[in-house]
Amino acid sequence: MKKAIIQGERRAALIEVPTPQPKEDWVLVKVYVAPMCTEYKAFVSGQPSQFLGHEAAGEVVAVAQPGRVQVRDRVVVMPLYACGQCPLCVAGDYIHCEHGPDIMAFTGSPEGRATMAQYLLKPSWLLPRIPDGVSYEHASLACCALGPSFGAWHTMRVGAFDTVLVTGLGPVGLGAVVNARYRGARVIAVESVPYRVGRARQMGVEAVIDPRDPDALAQIRALTGGIGVDCALDCSGVVAAQRLCIDATRRKGQVAFVGECSDELPIRVSADMIRKGLTLIGSWHYNLSLYPSVMQVIMRSPLIELLISHVLPMSDIQRAFEISASHACAKIILKPWE
Ligand SMILES: [Zn+2]
Ligand SMILES: [Zn+2]
Repeated sequence: MKKAIIQGERRAALIEVPTPQPKEDWVLVKVYVAPMCTEYKAFVSGQPSQFLGHEAAGEVVAVAQPGRVQVRDRVVVMPLYACGQCPLCVAGDYIHCEHGPDIMAFTGSPEGRATMAQYLLKPSWLLPRIPDGVSYEHASLACCALGPSFGAWHTMRVGAFDTVLVTGLGPVGLGAVVNARYRGARVIAVESVPYRVGRARQMGVEAVIDPRDPDALAQIRALTGGIGVDCALDCSGVVAAQRLCIDATRRKGQVAFVGECSDELPIRVSADMIRKGLTLIGSWHYNLSLYPSVMQVIMRSPLIELLISHVLPMSDIQRAFEISASHACAKIILKPWE
């Protein structure tokens, strides 16, 4: 099979590798679409990578034993791997599992874990079915385009009476806008890349504030009667934006973080938390039981098509990474068989 790799700084290519084989409840999925996520960071920094991607949708083409999926099932490939046994996995919060399998030890091959490839291996319980009539492209948005913010808005119970703030309008932030609009919330966003500002406006975001404006916080306060937003979601992973979320949220409001960040964020316990009554939430993905609800957003939201900016053949991997690194895009979807 063919798969995409990063060879070095701004150099991507396709290579030929052995097709993985199904084993026990791990089934073989033919990948029809593979959305791009944060892999461009390795492309830009020149970090070589042989296993790219963690989002996909495709068709089950081989199973080793009877199980919860069958050959010819159309499925979404949930991100990452998990044990399936621990309390977090059993509860559907598999994304937080601490006992991820050693794929090489289990299958005897390094292949099968990358989604930017023609085939992959996945435990069948991480392959929810795609409803009839939903395209692979749209279904794949149940991974990182809509997933992180769906989980966060669900936890914060965001609804039609809420004004929400979204900082960072990459594909995850634009997905947050789609999810918030589906729930009927009023949305304010913070972003500086013109392409993404344009997309947000098309999605009905009421105001898009430039994070470089020194009065960004004052603008958000002015839009909320001086009180602040009910809920904020950082999708940027930038400390200044995380801080803005805390400062722009009203008393007794909620702030969730989905943008990955390893830098420290200073918190003042009295001013930010005790006096303000703020709830801070770390959120990664959504509980598996919420998959049907995520699919409802995909089937019913009029904004869903705006989340996808490019559908490219995987043979165009170099150009796909250049577009991804430019940030002049929403979700980029690769087609591994083209
Ligand atoms: Zn587990
Ligand atoms: Zn992702």
